[in-house]
Amino acid sequence: MKAIQRAWGRAYPTFWGGMPYRCSGFRAHPEAPECPPNVSGLHPRMSASAQLETSSQVDASMAQGRLGPYSGLFLALRAKHPPTAAHCLRVALLCSRWASFQGLEEPRITLLETGGLLHDVGKIGIPDSVLQKPGSLTESESSLMDMNRVLAAELLSGAGACDDLLGIVCGGQESVSKEHNMLAIADAYDSMTSEQVFRRAMSREAAFEELYSEAGHQFDSDLVTNFFELMKQTRPELDGVTASRWVQRFVPEQWSGFTSNRITVASGAESSLVEAIFQPRLLNSMSEAVIFLDSQHNVLLWNRAAEELTGVDASAVRHLNWSPDLIGLTLPGGEPLHEQDDPHKQMLQTNTRTTKRLMVEGSDGRPKSIRLSALPVVYRGSSVGSILLLKDASKEARLEREVETLNDMATRDPLTKVSNRAYLGMYMPGFVQEHLESDQPGSAIICDIDYFKKINDTFGHQAGDEALVTFAGLLKSSARESDVIARYGGEEFVIICPACGNSAATARAEEMRRAVMETPIPALGGGTMTASFGVTELQRGDTPELLLARADRALLQAKEEGRNRVIEVGAGIRGEDATQIINIKDIEVPARTNSNWLSWFRGEKISKLTERQLLANVPREIVLQKLAGFIHDYKADLAGSGEDHVAVKVDMSKGVSGWKKGERPAVLLLEIQVTQVEYRTAKSTYQRKTLLNVSISPVRSRDRRQEALREQANKLLVSIGSYIVAQPVTEELKARIIEPR
Ligand code: GH3
Ligand code: MG
Ligand code: MG
Repeated sequence: MKAIQRAWGRAYPTFWGGMPYRCSGFRAHPEAPECPPNVSGLHPRMSASAQLETSSQVDASMAQGRLGPYSGLFLALRAKHPPTAAHCLRVALLCSRWASFQGLEEPRITLLETGGLLHDVGKIGIPDSVLQKPGSLTESESSLMDMNRVLAAELLSGAGACDDLLGIVCGGQESVSKEHNMLAIADAYDSMTSEQVFRRAMSREAAFEELYSEAGHQFDSDLVTNFFELMKQTRPELDGVTASRWVQRFVPEQWSGFTSNRITVASGAESSLVEAIFQPRLLNSMSEAVIFLDSQHNVLLWNRAAEELTGVDASAVRHLNWSPDLIGLTLPGGEPLHEQDDPHKQMLQTNTRTTKRLMVEGSDGRPKSIRLSALPVVYRGSSVGSILLLKDASKEARLEREVETLNDMATRDPLTKVSNRAYLGMYMPGFVQEHLESDQPGSAIICDIDYFKKINDTFGHQAGDEALVTFAGLLKSSARESDVIARYGGEEFVIICPACGNSAATARAEEMRRAVMETPIPALGGGTMTASFGVTELQRGDTPELLLARADRALLQAKEEGRNRVIEVGAGIRGEDATQIINIKDIEVPARTNSNWLSWFRGEKISKLTERQLLANVPREIVLQKLAGFIHDYKADLAGSGEDHVAVKVDMSKGVSGWKKGERPAVLLLEIQVTQVEYRTAKSTYQRKTLLNVSISPVRSRDRRQEALREQANKLLVSIGSYIVAQPVTEELKARIIEPR
């Protein structure tokens, strides 16, 4: 006893029959040593477990699981003094574990747990000034504290506690004296080993020393020993058993410790309890705003979150007819919400849940992003009303704006606000593929401001920037909605025109050129500038790179020819002629050796991947020009040339993108012999045409990827056909061709 007095300060009688210690969470002993510095962020005077439990609300929900509707008592205690409630929960868990360890029967375990949870419920009636007093208690305060026991008995029996539960908590019942004694030990142990406002937590050993010092007096000796045994072992599974039992759904008959004859739980009472107490409480504690409307769309319920979100008091709208104006609903952009956009109206039409992102006038008068869901409430087949759920979506809206900004940053040119080069790179492969697959024309325009360097030099970089912005704006106003305008480099822009052939694209470029030429720019002192344009149309065998390379070549030509003009190149997709030259499956490639007209080129014999004769309608000089364009666009290396032939190395990775996985671009040797021929028409007149003998072989003779190479060779052949605009030489054609001797 002395030890306890020494350790705990002034003694006063407790619950457990005069033992001079107080159960939990009480006042500080004036001589209590200072607590160590708060290193963990926890309240220095409260045990870690107590803080965790109180802060996480675990205690409340666990106790609720255990106590069912009687958890109100526990919640009241928790509201009054959270450390005491936390202590009760720990004691209950300890008792539960111990009871399992002892092998008590299930109902007794449950009873003991309930007793543990509610043993300090009498503290509800103790004034805060006493409960939280850090120093010694006065005589009268001590007697107030003694009321704890009486109050507990009153509260419990008032709530319908059965005799056994009362006996466990308050004593005096032979049948449950063991449980009463167990609870006393667990209570004392937890009080001693947890941090209190008036003293630091005692070590386990010190606590046991105290318990043993009272064994045989205050506490049952055997039970203290047994408790010691329990605490020696670490058997987490015991806690697991407790926890799983506690979280089980509670069946009313199992609300242990409360008798149904004291509280009459008539049938239906449970549901009315739920309706009367739990549902309103749930609705008001929800973070989502909830509005109930009856079948006439009158407001039945408007929960607290709805009040907080809208700043509109429930009493002000109850029984009013729902209208978006009630809460100042608008569309996400702030435009007024028309009746047909009201999710509630839409839900009534479809009878299914309707959700929309809208804005509501928040309680601070500012618009707030929300997600509004309207749900039908159907009872026995007919609509009895609806529920509106309003969820704060400002985070979502902010995130969307951020994503939009990021997307803009990644795809837009910050100065001119048109797309950037990266976006063009992402857009073009799809554009090329879709148009080629559907045989639809598609064009590219590249333009570049003329002598822009001079503009910068004369008016300054800032003025140059303004001129760029104006230039981009002019391009935009001449382009169609579906055109993609991108800044390709400094003062160079690309316009991709879907579903548009060379002539339409050229006309558009012409319009742009005129607009630029005619628009005075304030930053240039009201002067104007000019720009040059290169236009080309997609053709078979094209890739994004080839398309742009061709347009660029046209631009280069426009510059060379004097600037401020539009040059167009390429024949586009041609129906039947050149485009049909290859059907990959049809080609038979004999493993022939390279023994013909270009054998001078290599000493070795090599098998060809493909070999074809093409006939172009244009004379040889034009074919050679076109070939030059082809070589330029493919960035091919000239490997050799003679009067009537040319050999180039084509690195397919330069002209072609979008390689499939595992596919390696080849380097191919393309040999073309160009011959002027006479062509006999059906009317037996003669035309000058150009015959091309095309053969493609791998540059490296030991390249074993014959199949893959052949496919690439065929692509190249298709592309040549498109560039030259030539048709394949059939047997019939061959008979009409007269080659020079
Ligand atoms: P050309 O007619 O042959 O196109 O002549 P040019 O002077 O327009 O062409 P050049 O390529 O020699 O010069 C382009 C100039 O554009 C050089 C560069 O300083 C300027 N430039 C590139 N980007 C910007 C920019 O963002 N702002 C400004 N003000 N100038 C830029
Ligand atoms: Mg320029
Ligand atoms: Mg330039």
